[in-house]
Amino acid sequence: MRIFIYPGSFDPVTNGHLDIIDRASKICDKLIVAVLINRSKKPVFSMEERVAFLDEILEGRPNIVVIPFSGLLVDFMKKQKATTVIKGLRAVSDFEYEFQMALLNKNLNPEIETLFMMTNINYSYLSSSAVRELAAYGGNIRDLVPDIIVDRIYAKFRSNE
Ligand code: ADP
Repeated sequence: MRIFIYPGSFDPVTNGHLDIIDRASKICDKLIVAVLINRSKKPVFSMEERVAFLDEILEGRPNIVVIPFSGLLVDFMKKQKATTVIKGLRAVSDFEYEFQMALLNKNLNPEIETLFMMTNINYSYLSSSAVRELAAYGGNIRDLVPDIIVDRIYAKFRSNE
């Protein structure tokens, strides 16, 4: 059984993430969407909110599971019996960091592979931080995240004011 893992903060999940999730889930038997418990950055959305958004959006997708994680990705992967990390690449600016992470993980566990998926051209500009920034100033996020979370994202920024 090929178990792949797609790690990220998903603060909040965007249509760019979902595009990668869709495509990745087709080339493995099980895809684990691993939601990072950040140590350095405080997320805008709590772990519970980030996981709930993903769970709702991915409901009915039998080979996708959403699991929070902290600590080293290689340790989590071992526990979950995952073999492969999936990463999305938007621009050259993503490359340097991802290149370093992939080599670091390879060094920690040579059996782990990292696969990079090129962004869908329509989402190449899209990031969670762009969504947060737009939502905070009342900009239009409707084409950037799934409909069912739009209002909750706006509500979050209203309640933070
Ligand atoms: P962001 O960079 O949007 O804050 P994350 O840190 O949660 O998101 O990213 C998790 C993974 O998703 C990373 O591999 C990142 O490169 C990828 N990713 C994020 N947005 C996109 C997008 N629009 N297209 C392709 N990959 C993406």
